Amino acid sequence: MPISIEQLEKMITENRSHTVLGNTAQYIPALAKQDPNLLGISIMCPNGSLLNAGDSQVSFTLQSISKILSFISVCQEYGLEYVLEKVDVEPTGESFNSIIPFEIHRPGKPFNPLINAGAITVSSMLPGTTTDEKYEQFTSFLQKLIGAPLAIDEEVYQSEWRTAHRNRALAYYLKESNLLELDVEDALDIYIRQCSIKISLQDLAKIGLIIAYNGYDPIENKQLFDKEIARIAKVLMVTCGMYNASGKFAAYVGVPAKSGVSGGILASVPPKWLPETHELQPGYGIAVYSPAIDASGNSAAGTMLLKQLSKVFDFSIF
Ligand code: GLU
Repeated sequence: MPISIEQLEKMITENRSHTVLGNTAQYIPALAKQDPNLLGISIMCPNGSLLNAGDSQVSFTLQSISKILSFISVCQEYGLEYVLEKVDVEPTGESFNSIIPFEIHRPGKPFNPLINAGAITVSSMLPGTTTDEKYEQFTSFLQKLIGAPLAIDEEVYQSEWRTAHRNRALAYYLKESNLLELDVEDALDIYIRQCSIKISLQDLAKIGLIIAYNGYDPIENKQLFDKEIARIAKVLMVTCGMYNASGKFAAYVGVPAKSGVSGGILASVPPKWLPETHELQPGYGIAVYSPAIDASGNSAAGTMLLKQLSKVFDFSIF
């Protein structure tokens, strides 16, 4: 069933009040300054049409959403097997920037690439030897997906760099475990650069669509990364993509998604057969932005909006 802009605008109005259930990320001063009342959505359809509603003409930094993208990019370059030697595919039950797994569980490698320890490890593996080369490679991978260049939000980068004490501590643990392919400062630099890349809702929705179609771009008719990599990426998004609320998100929304502390959510609705109507529901890429995040680190109103959308349009893959 087609989704109409009117329906989307109505859902925005109904969910906007949920912004009061969260607050902007306070530990990164440049993110703390975002307007907590914003709520916008963009949906990319496989025929290339876009549905925008609410505060949809915004751009914001990728933050943790970048983690799934650097994982895909490194896997595409070096193969899944090589990457999974350095990071596992298990949820942790700890917060995204926790040091506990290193000290208590001593797992030998980070639990998954979506927690900070795993993401810093993966960023250090991006192709290239210098941080500049790695950044170039990563942004040219993103450019292949969205067809346009992306840039860093310099204010967010500086703000994060100045306050990255915990990430620096994590990077030292990783260095001690011989998991980093760079020294600590360079690993931190490339990780913070990827988190500080600015993106629009429309470009993020396009990336969601490509993940939904297993690495295939249905608009340009091109396979941009391997199906097997997309499959593992979607598993990671379902099991770890929404921090410690991933279980609830799978239960109530039921699609692969990745959130970031800037308030963005990337969601991929894979195409599926609807047995009762005997028709194929097309896949969609969905991007949501609402910077007031809840205690789990997920956009409060954004999550509620996706929950309603999934219920109305039967998006859940489960
Ligand atoms: N750059 C943020 C950090 O490392 C990303 C966290 C997030 O979005 O979850 O703290």
